[in-house]
Amino acid sequence: VRWVYSFGGGSSDGDASMRNLLGGKGANLAEMATLGLPVPPGFTITTEVCTAYYELGEKYPDTLSGQVEAALTALEEKTDKKFGDASNPLLVSVRSGARASMPGMMDTVLNLGLNDTTTEGLAKLSGDRRFAFDSYRRFIQMYSNVVLGLPHHEFEHILDQYKEVNDFHEDTELSAENWMDVIEKYKAAVKKLSSNPFPEDPKEQLWGAITAVFGSWMNDRAILYRKLNDIPQAWGTAVNVQSMVFGNMGDSSATGVAFTRDPSTGENQFYGEFLVNAQGEDVVAGIRTPAPISKARAERINSDLTPLEVEMPAVYEQLVDVAQTLEKHYRDMQDIEFTVENNKLYMLQTRNGKRTAAAALKIAVDMCHDGLISEEEAVLRLEPGQLDQLLHPTIKPEAERDLLVQGLPASPGAAVGKVVFSSDEAAEMAAAGEKVILVRLETSPEDIHGMHAAQAIVTARGGMTSHAAVVARGMGRPCVCGAGSMQIDEAGGIFRVGGREVKKGEIITVDGAEGQVLFGEVEMSQPDLSGDFGELMVWADRARKLKVRTNAETPADVETAKSFGAEGIGLCRTEHMFFDAERIPVVRAMILASDTAGRKAALGKLLPFQRDDFAEIFRIMEDRPCTIRLLDPPLHEFLPHTDADIEEVAKGTGLDVKALKARADELQESNPMLGHRGCRLGITYPEIYEMQAQAIFEAAIRVAEETGHKPIPEIMIPLVGTKKELEILKGKIEGVAKSVFAAASTELEYLIGTMIELPRAALRAGDIAEEAEFFSFGTNDLTQTALGISRDDAGRFLKAYEEAGIYEKDPFVTIDQDGVGELVKIGVERGRQTRPGIKLGICGEHGGDPASIYFCHNTGLDYVSCSPFRVPIARLAAAHAAL
Ligand code: ADP
Ligand code: MG
Ligand code: MG
Repeated sequence: VRWVYSFGGGSSDGDASMRNLLGGKGANLAEMATLGLPVPPGFTITTEVCTAYYELGEKYPDTLSGQVEAALTALEEKTDKKFGDASNPLLVSVRSGARASMPGMMDTVLNLGLNDTTTEGLAKLSGDRRFAFDSYRRFIQMYSNVVLGLPHHEFEHILDQYKEVNDFHEDTELSAENWMDVIEKYKAAVKKLSSNPFPEDPKEQLWGAITAVFGSWMNDRAILYRKLNDIPQAWGTAVNVQSMVFGNMGDSSATGVAFTRDPSTGENQFYGEFLVNAQGEDVVAGIRTPAPISKARAERINSDLTPLEVEMPAVYEQLVDVAQTLEKHYRDMQDIEFTVENNKLYMLQTRNGKRTAAAALKIAVDMCHDGLISEEEAVLRLEPGQLDQLLHPTIKPEAERDLLVQGLPASPGAAVGKVVFSSDEAAEMAAAGEKVILVRLETSPEDIHGMHAAQAIVTARGGMTSHAAVVARGMGRPCVCGAGSMQIDEAGGIFRVGGREVKKGEIITVDGAEGQVLFGEVEMSQPDLSGDFGELMVWADRARKLKVRTNAETPADVETAKSFGAEGIGLCRTEHMFFDAERIPVVRAMILASDTAGRKAALGKLLPFQRDDFAEIFRIMEDRPCTIRLLDPPLHEFLPHTDADIEEVAKGTGLDVKALKARADELQESNPMLGHRGCRLGITYPEIYEMQAQAIFEAAIRVAEETGHKPIPEIMIPLVGTKKELEILKGKIEGVAKSVFAAASTELEYLIGTMIELPRAALRAGDIAEEAEFFSFGTNDLTQTALGISRDDAGRFLKAYEEAGIYEKDPFVTIDQDGVGELVKIGVERGRQTRPGIKLGICGEHGGDPASIYFCHNTGLDYVSCSPFRVPIARLAAAHAAL
């Protein structure tokens, strides 16, 4: 088996298509080298080694070491240096690189190969002792932390103390001799803390670092990141061993990161940050404030730091050139890492850049207009889940802004919440249903859970490419970074800015697009659905096969859904119309009636209300189909529960308290979900369904006459398990239709169908379809009944189930394809066999979940139905499924 692939120095063994084997970083390093870009040569140890390493119980395959030796020898030849050589040492970085990018989640070691002798060699070779010893101390620090597992702060503490004693303020003030002193102290610390001396043997260092990278695949941070981003553990990471170039070789050296377009807004403007005389993570670590790369950007954000364009004009030109080459080549916005050593540019990484939803949209539409990608590709460039960000509010332009502090606009969107200062607290409060804003000096990968729980993130330190900024954009959380004038006293639970104080628990508003933190709750406005958004959605609509309907019953929701592009109503829940303050007394009178006549009298009062409700919906939906579900929940839900409520209702209805209580007790069920509900109500109290059917038909006729549109009611009977149930109820509804049509001397097209939400119904779909003109898979209840899990009680164990891998995803969020999905497939197949043209849809929460929508597409449903705000997501997901 081939475990090692070389890159750089004129040729590469791999290329960009091999990311599964070489990881994203390794594959793209190989590709860039082949494109002729300046990439320091090196080699990649494959992801298969990672998998083998864990399969063998944390041991390497036998043939690995020989292949690494051979690749190292080849690297020595390419670079004309020797690993561990006293006068001409080859130094390398050891870098992780998984298939999917996991920024900052795993560990990297730089300057590897340095020891007491090779550092002298590096000093002679570069003519710069200070640089050599600075590199050595960085190496000891990183290696000790990443490989030996010694705490970072031990070393920071030594350095801080040394600076204090010698009255230094900046690292740049330390001379070679000073660094040598610090190095001695570092080594003493390593000996003390690990009871072994720091390893001087470069080979030992190399294997130590390789093992640390493979080991980091299983650290807590990486495991959590994979979980949040759906990255399988089995993918493994690759390890890249690459010859070093040095951005810390004085003032003609630098290191930086850049995006070929603005990752916040998507504007086609070269964008990035750099630091002179710095190495590696310095830019993203937020220790020094990096300068913008281009003049235009510096002006725009009012930076008084010197941009790269001014500092190193020739390098800047070359970098812009490389950026354009890469963007054209990959046909997507790139996120690149580079280093300048003595005015020479080196490329260290490129990948498709993470971006906000707004940027993803703009970049996709712009690139399509420029002919770089097709309409279909543009549609695929926007993740359906990401779309959510575009559908959420921003701050109203005219709203009063009580500005606390101006920072960097790191991730757009606006959010309101209570201030918290720690990630644990953020997670706890969010779990308790609070909206929180996480305010930190800076964030690290340990803060992921807090960032996830927060509505928005604010940091005092760090630039546009800091950890907080990158992660927040990925999660779609608004974020303001580098709000430098803010003083955070985490222990005291307070932050101070401009003479003001904000305490933990006080409400602030974050405007990520403007980089502002505002005091109090500021008014928000709704997103713009025209422009680029509208255009991309047209492309998506062209591509998709599934229709998209909505679950809605209030006129406001129906309007919203229509404006989001809903093509009909997939589920109108009539019980929601019964809870209105004006109606509930009548509903209760109906329930409490002791005989049919009493019930009919009450229903007669409800009829005009229902008719108006349906007319309103038909008016809004015009000629679009509307599936209306007849009453579903157990009647008990409409009755008062507490003694106080019961007394109040008694007063209101003139009923006796005792009788009321007795009736409520009578209606009490031990398992209402499986009790007297759905079509069982229709069977026992047919007058309820007859009233609803009458209201529907009369409303449809009225609207047809008023507007000239042709409403298409689809009457849906819930919780059917047998053909007979449907046959009986269908007969009654058809009877109502006849008499309504006769009275109005007109006719109207309508359908009668059922929900498939019991396993029996799915299995008997063949005979149920003899009666049903459509099926709507009610996958909420179907999940409950198929899995035998009550959704309301699942909270107690479902997490443990997910963690144990029993169900990979919450089956109430993403459809359980193997079980519930199988029932849906059976229902589809048998239903169509009986009635080939039968209309098939889904109306559970799953109708708005992208993964479930792919399933619906593949199963051949006609439509999905989801909540109004998810309609655009469903349209896009349906397009993805079809492409
Ligand atoms: P991450 O995946 O966390 O971004 P990287 O492996 O990209 O980690 O390493 C982080 C940084 O270290 C790079 O952006 C680059 O600045 C620096 N670096 C890595 N390898 C080298 C190298 N061979 N020469 C110089 N700098 C390097
Ligand atoms: Mg890293
Ligand atoms: Mg990197």
